[in-house]
Amino acid sequence: MSGNISGDRDGARPGVQVSARGAARWRAGHPWIYRSDVLAEPGGEPGIVSVTDRGGRFHGHALYSPRSEIRLRFLSASADPIDDAWWTERIRAAAARRVGIDATAWRVVHGEADGLPSLVVDRYGPYLVAQLLSAGLERVRDDVLAGLREALHPDGILLRHDAAIRRHEGLSLEVTLAAGTVPQIIEVAEHGIRYRAAPWTGQKTGAFLDQRENRVLAAAHARAGGRALDLFTYHGSFALHLARRAAEVIAVDASAEALARAAENAALNGLTNIAWREANAFDYLRELERREERFDAIVLDPPAFAKTKASVAKAVGGYKDINLRAMRLLTAGGTLLTCSCSYHVHRGDFLDMLAAAAQDSGRRLELVTLTGAAGDHPEIVNVPETAYLKGALLRAVD
Ligand code: SAH
Repeated sequence: MSGNISGDRDGARPGVQVSARGAARWRAGHPWIYRSDVLAEPGGEPGIVSVTDRGGRFHGHALYSPRSEIRLRFLSASADPIDDAWWTERIRAAAARRVGIDATAWRVVHGEADGLPSLVVDRYGPYLVAQLLSAGLERVRDDVLAGLREALHPDGILLRHDAAIRRHEGLSLEVTLAAGTVPQIIEVAEHGIRYRAAPWTGQKTGAFLDQRENRVLAAAHARAGGRALDLFTYHGSFALHLARRAAEVIAVDASAEALARAAENAALNGLTNIAWREANAFDYLRELERREERFDAIVLDPPAFAKTKASVAKAVGGYKDINLRAMRLLTAGGTLLTCSCSYHVHRGDFLDMLAAAAQDSGRRLELVTLTGAAGDHPEIVNVPETAYLKGALLRAVD
């Protein structure tokens, strides 16, 4: 169909004109068009716009963020208006893709990967915790909320709008209740383990849902009756799964507050074989190495060491340090589940780092499997930005 820079067919908003390179990006399956590929824009207000090229050809509807480097986020190639019924349909389709998850909390909408760019929605039982992470999306908040209510019928919707990324969009940071009620603490059941999520104040939307499958994986490979070590444990979620299999688990975090929540979670599950240690994981690993301690299963799930491109080299040095020490602590046949959630450290960098760590560790490591975020956080190959969490399960050969 044909479009016009000066007006959308549905008359909603004036259009944005993009370069051939910008349009090609959409054709290649990437939903973002950057500022440098925008030829003409209405300026001023964010929202939903129609997008055309220099020749006036219509390319679709997009979220428009006038102050962001990411100016346009593709929504639909159709000329039909994007209204609350549209949001309902897309959210419903995203929800329908999540089937058979053995947990009461999971990600229902994973932004770009679900064709709903800059929208994140996590379900905790009957409650939703959502993040509208672009100015264009924030402008249509009422329609998005209507779509969430209609598609998912939640008891409450909390907006965790304290994510720093909103600053790039010129948006304020806040946590607000958008509908119904959402408790401070919600108990989650996950593969037979119970833990408490804190939607109002916890990290991300209240818990690390993206690691759910990796927690099961780590426990499945841990030697029954063995010794396990969980570094950067936060609320203990890996440790809880490991403790059902191992005889003894040591779980380490630098935050006393996180460990207090972790201990509550252990009590909730009647687990008494986890020792919680408040320590810097880097120092603690050195100490364990000095004492020649050995573990049959180790989990390394640190925070993102590389927050920017510029800090990648330093971050990789940090990852290598903890990984090579963890490798040295493994018993023969012991397993290490190691992760990085730094988007800027790509999968190739991560694997190179592991190879270098293995070489320096003096141990030989078998790659049992590569892993990533759980299936409810899909990764789209065309959109490298959706690939932030990388993991590898390694086994000490001898
Ligand atoms: N494994 C957790 C998530 C880890 S989040 C899960 O799946 O739920 C990262 C954690 O690392 C936070 O709890 C933070 O307090 C802790 N942390 C950050 N730097 C640390 C350090 N140097 N030593 C130990 N813990 C650290």
